[in-house]
Amino acid sequence: MHALSTRRSIARRGLVAVASLAAALSLVGCSTNPTTGRSQYDSLSPEQEIALGNQAAPELTAEYGGEVTDPNLRGYVSQVAQRMVPYTEGDAPSLPWEFVLLDSDVINAFALPGGKVFMSRGLAARMTNEAQLASVLGHEIGHVTARHVNDRITRSNVVTGILTVGVSVLGTASDSGLLNAATQQIVGAGGQGYLLKFNRDQEHEADELGVRYMVRAGYDPLGAVQVQQILKAASDGPRPPEIMSTHPLPESRITNLQNHINDEYAFTKNNAEYQLYADRFKQVFLSRVSVLPPPADAEFTTLAVSEWCAHCASQ
Ligand SMILES: [Zn+2]
Repeated sequence: MHALSTRRSIARRGLVAVASLAAALSLVGCSTNPTTGRSQYDSLSPEQEIALGNQAAPELTAEYGGEVTDPNLRGYVSQVAQRMVPYTEGDAPSLPWEFVLLDSDVINAFALPGGKVFMSRGLAARMTNEAQLASVLGHEIGHVTARHVNDRITRSNVVTGILTVGVSVLGTASDSGLLNAATQQIVGAGGQGYLLKFNRDQEHEADELGVRYMVRAGYDPLGAVQVQQILKAASDGPRPPEIMSTHPLPESRITNLQNHINDEYAFTKNNAEYQLYADRFKQVFLSRVSVLPPPADAEFTTLAVSEWCAHCASQ
């Protein structure tokens, strides 16, 4: 083959590749997110987001010691979250929401696309009122409604690989290829892989959405600031909370939250319609958490205690 036809052939292959990518893009398209008002490129359809959450949830739950077995504790966390769900935007209230209290000592919370939200008992047990619990659940609901995993796929290099699978095997095979590739980027090494590590703007956006949802459900947004103070105090301990590996420093979140509350939610201050619900939290939640058997996922405590003992032995 002489040089001219070789160049033409390469150019043709390039055009085919671009056309395939464009076909993949047009298959999924763009939409305006009713939560944020932003136009988003849909790397995942709503059905794929739900399927991805379903696929990644069992492994992620197992990595954190499974669910707390006490049905009252699980029911309470779910109730607090479900109070906010009707106030989410667009079709979000009808997502198959599920709120999981993990039997783990680590201090963490995270969410999967499609409405699966997880909180460790290690984090929940450090709280002092229901508004704090609502703020963390609201923040995670915000990651779901703002579709941050979808954006993470769109903006990352992963999208190239995932789209290649989608382009080459359209139909059901492409769906499972996409879901498997995305699941691997979620459950990865020890949970919370690449796709659940959001950027600073996404975290601040989730903080603001959390405040939006908790206020709509009648909680005092001061609870959101208090949670950051709890994380700040915990990060002075022997081992920084796991949540710090995926979130901005509490100091910057406190500043951002305080400004946001002053700007948008000043009406909640000293307003009896917005409560922290400290007594209810103590009676229904803390009293039960304190008598639970040690968590199934107790690596954090074991390591911290053994390090402390080794330190003492060397004195
Ligand atoms: Zn977050």
